[in-house]
Amino acid sequence: MVELLIVISLILLLMAIFAVGMQNVKKKMRVSRTVSLVERVGIALESYHSAHGAYPSDGIESPVVTRDGTRLKSGAALTHALTRPMLKTRTNAAGERIVMGKSEPLLDLPQGELTKPLEGDKEAVEMVDAWGNELHYDNLSGDTGRFDEQGDGSVHLSDLDEHEEDPRTTELVIRDGAQSTGKFDFWSHGLGGHSEESVLEATISNWGTVATGEDEDD
Ligand SMILES: [Zn+2]
Repeated sequence: MVELLIVISLILLLMAIFAVGMQNVKKKMRVSRTVSLVERVGIALESYHSAHGAYPSDGIESPVVTRDGTRLKSGAALTHALTRPMLKTRTNAAGERIVMGKSEPLLDLPQGELTKPLEGDKEAVEMVDAWGNELHYDNLSGDTGRFDEQGDGSVHLSDLDEHEEDPRTTELVIRDGAQSTGKFDFWSHGLGGHSEESVLEATISNWGTVATGEDEDD
């Protein structure tokens, strides 16, 4: 009888260890999926820059509006610029720009990496990280090249009651404010998400992951 109890306890213990292990595996997968999204977007942004001579607007200083009239900012404005077909143009001898046709969008995002369209406006979507949270984008070259603090949820399409600070205004960055001067800042909240107990250290960004967001017991 005692032996049976010992065996059962051992099985339960092993199951608990396995469950914790699975949690860590899932977390690491989400981190690496989001790191890869940030990298893919960075490559798409450079292609956009080669084609247009500028990075897409972040919609904060100059409005980015869908055909249905929804105003897009930050990650939503970026999603709009990268996921729609681009016009192919060339300049003729008279210096006029001639539209040659359309090319494929720079970024192909599956349904799982996009929010649901806002109020049926198919263009009003926003890319999300592996936790399902919206990302942030700040154009630091075009527009006025200004740093736009994004410390509340108003830049997102969804109405968010809670939002963490802009990671670029905390002590976790090299300097307060813009990180990639003359280019763009792009970041995910990481595992902190939009919760009240957000984990700023978990930010995943194009200026480098500030911290790993690892458990202390890892
Ligand atoms: Zn946010």
